[in-house]
Amino acid sequence: MTFQSLGLIEALLKAVRLQGYETPSPIQQKAIPPILEGLDVLASAQTGTGKTAGFTLPMLQILSKNPVPHRRPVRALVLTPTRELADQVYTNVKHYSKFLDLRAAVIFGGVNQNPQIKQLRNGVDVLVATPGRLIDLENQGHLSLSKVEIFVLDEADRMLDMGFKRDIDKIRSLIPSRRQNLMFSATFSREIKSLAQTILQRPTLVEATPENTTVEAIAQQIYRVAKEKKTNLLIKLIQDGQWQQVLVFTRTKHGANNLCKKLESARISAMAIHGNKSQGARTKALAVLKIMIFVC
Ligand code: AMP
Repeated sequence: MTFQSLGLIEALLKAVRLQGYETPSPIQQKAIPPILEGLDVLASAQTGTGKTAGFTLPMLQILSKNPVPHRRPVRALVLTPTRELADQVYTNVKHYSKFLDLRAAVIFGGVNQNPQIKQLRNGVDVLVATPGRLIDLENQGHLSLSKVEIFVLDEADRMLDMGFKRDIDKIRSLIPSRRQNLMFSATFSREIKSLAQTILQRPTLVEATPENTTVEAIAQQIYRVAKEKKTNLLIKLIQDGQWQQVLVFTRTKHGANNLCKKLESARISAMAIHGNKSQGARTKALAVLKIMIFVC
């Protein structure tokens, strides 16, 4: 299977080659054809499966086939649960649209809204956003969603976990009812299924990984230790393994800060990233990724 055989146009094939991708991943093989046909898609796919290209490539193709070059109303809206994911999706959109005449923007909270407003004023074909800032800017009249043709909910399960159901409902009321909908989720709980029913119309189901399993490339180990020994074990594993990049998930924000201090006192450079940190601190933590502590 090649990207070409999926029906993608040359401008996208060129961008994909530039990224160094040789063959489409399973989610891309399954999701791209129905999306290109204009169908609604409900896909189970986790991060790391190539899901972003799975929806971005066909979305860009549809937009480029039917250009609206002048005022450039928002025609594709991608909602993500976190600012970091929004930025990641936006970067993907930029890469894949390199050879197309399409403009993209990303908006999320925690940073000055003025540069985002300026970008919106210049016209944007593809908007990637987190729900809060999107609703804010719409309320202030800086943005209209009345011309949205493609609506994507990325990591829908995390959106629900983070309490975005009401925001999603609000955003749904701002976009046209005739549109193409794409919904991606790592899990399929009852809540996700009922959300899917309110958003998607006769969706094509796409499953790239069996439900609730982890990516195969990841080896997993469990260490059973008493609570008070966890930090020392972690320090020993990092030091013995000479690990350079480590993600540590903690249950609470406080726990993340605490662990960070303990790692620092063991001369392991660490930064915490969670909702109480400013966006500047979060962005910096990602940029200097050595050891990050994410709160899950
Ligand atoms: P995602 O699941 O969308 O977060 O993508 C995970 C990673 O896989 C990203 O770094 C992508 O750049 C990369 N990727 C996406 N599609 C392919 C592909 N067909 N071949 C190789 N790498 C890919």
